[in-house]
Amino acid sequence: MSDNNFKVIIIGTGPAGYTAAIYAARADLKPIIFEGDQPGGQLTITTEVENYPGFAHGIQGPELMQQFREQALRFGTDIRAETVTGVDFSGPPHQVFTTKATYTADTVIVASGARALLLDLPSEHRLMGHGVSACATCDGFFFRGKRIAVVGGGDSAMEEANFLTKFADKVTLIHRRDALRASKIMQQRVKENPKIEFMWNSTVVDVLGEPETGVHGLRIKNTLDGTESTWPCEGLFLAIGHKPNTEFLKGQLTLDSNGYVITKPGMTATEIEGVFACGDVQDHYYRQAVTAAGTGCMAAIEAERYLETRESH
Ligand code: NAP
Repeated sequence: MSDNNFKVIIIGTGPAGYTAAIYAARADLKPIIFEGDQPGGQLTITTEVENYPGFAHGIQGPELMQQFREQALRFGTDIRAETVTGVDFSGPPHQVFTTKATYTADTVIVASGARALLLDLPSEHRLMGHGVSACATCDGFFFRGKRIAVVGGGDSAMEEANFLTKFADKVTLIHRRDALRASKIMQQRVKENPKIEFMWNSTVVDVLGEPETGVHGLRIKNTLDGTESTWPCEGLFLAIGHKPNTEFLKGQLTLDSNGYVITKPGMTATEIEGVFACGDVQDHYYRQAVTAAGTGCMAAIEAERYLETRESH
């Protein structure tokens, strides 16, 4: 076995990747995990995480990911600060190309996650986790009795707006056109909700506020006449879509129409022998740290059993 051949290579260090690493390391599979360009994943750009079980009083997202990392290290995971740029799944052994070297492995666990699409405003980045969010399930609770804006016109925006009315007094859906992309049933639910109002033909061009004090308003641009106005609110939720991090998999795994990795029903196994996918890269539905961790565990167990079966033949 060459120095660069492993039993398990894990791609990505969010909750899915690190959980896969913890299980694989404890099964003595000596996993190697590549951190990628956002070590710790999406939770490192959130603040308080209140819904991760086991932390009764909540935990900061970056601290939670530090705990995952330490737990993976404790059982001997080899964590490398490298980003995977490509793969060749014609094995096993499969090949993984990183920014520094080429590796081979009998099994590969893809846990590269997804990212929420953002408007790409400097103020949006600065206030992320301080009044700006891309996850209503994660952060809605912090906006009890507040005024919230949701940007988007698809199913996600409808779902987030409806969910946020559990907490907020008023939710305003800001959409850049005057017609929604969302399915009819989701549109109907939103239109029947008395706490939701629409701001049509509008885009957010600036988020007003400071990380210390939170958001206090938005600069809104009318897409028809270009006029700008200030609109007061305390929260901004982006719901303009997600993008799975699958660019490096091009041509190697079958992806669905939105770019997510397709796995076998109820499993993390992909169509390729020895390749598994877990977390947000294969889940566009739940998108939670705890579900990602759950599928990370599944991937490690499936990889272990796959290796056992291979060795016994
Ligand atoms: P989506 O369908 O792609 O909708 C994105 C929305 O954001 C669109 O209305 C788009 O406006 C708007 N948008 C995109 N970029 C923008 C920008 N830079 N500035 C302002 N607005 C912008 O994404 P999604 O809603 O996340 O849904 C993704 C997929 O998941 C869909 O297939 C959806 O049906 C599915 N989904 C299903 C459910 C469910 O059934 N329960 C729930 C959530 C998601 P335009 O309309 O003008 O393009």
